[in-house]
Amino acid sequence: MSTLPHCQVCAGARIALYHRDANAELFRCEECGFIFLHPIPDAATQASLYEQAGIGARYFPKAERKLQRAQQKMRQLQRLVARGRFLDAGCNGGFMVEAARRAGFEAHGVEPDPASVDWARQHFPANAFAVATLEEYVTGGAQRPFDLVYCSEVIEHAPDANRFAAALAAAVARGGYLYLTTPDITHWRRPRALAEWDGYKPPEHCLYFSPRTLRLLLERHGFTGVKTAWAWKPGIKVLARRA
Ligand SMILES: [Zn+2]
Repeated sequence: MSTLPHCQVCAGARIALYHRDANAELFRCEECGFIFLHPIPDAATQASLYEQAGIGARYFPKAERKLQRAQQKMRQLQRLVARGRFLDAGCNGGFMVEAARRAGFEAHGVEPDPASVDWARQHFPANAFAVATLEEYVTGGAQRPFDLVYCSEVIEHAPDANRFAAALAAAVARGGYLYLTTPDITHWRRPRALAEWDGYKPPEHCLYFSPRTLRLLLERHGFTGVKTAWAWKPGIKVLARRA
């Protein structure tokens, strides 16, 4: 048996098996409660998973409805940040990016799936889209930080929680806001049998947060005032400000 890594969130060394099935093993940090897939597939395996999923053109059903929902969400977020530079990290078909542009932001989107970005560029050509992971996007240093970063259902895919959180911190301007969503493995309405929960998706989903472990991680990377909204569904919606 290989040695277990330390916890990525609190660096704790007391790690215990949390779940095992034919596909994967999840481990839990006994100190902070963070749950993670181990071993995490290497970068090449992960890339090939995404290639398999991403072959061919993208089609986004109910595109009009998706854009309407994005505009509703944008109206909520505009109570925090009225205008400025907006980034959707993991922007998919670009719906939030377009909603931000229509709301008056200078809108950018980054997304590793080239087929999704093709679709976004065709349908929402007035925005700036890049094909990259968030980590690659901020490493170049070509982008000025953003006043508002939106990141929905992406962090759970990251192989390295600290690298991803550092990239988020690099993307958000000082005093700017981050709005992030991810599944909540500790939620009271999560199906008891983990395999029946749509948030359990190894090996694509590597990191399994609770509101507490997500807050700890973000605080470790310079975010303050980390607030999670009460959620009826097993998901976390978090708002944080870069100090
Ligand atoms: Zn921990």
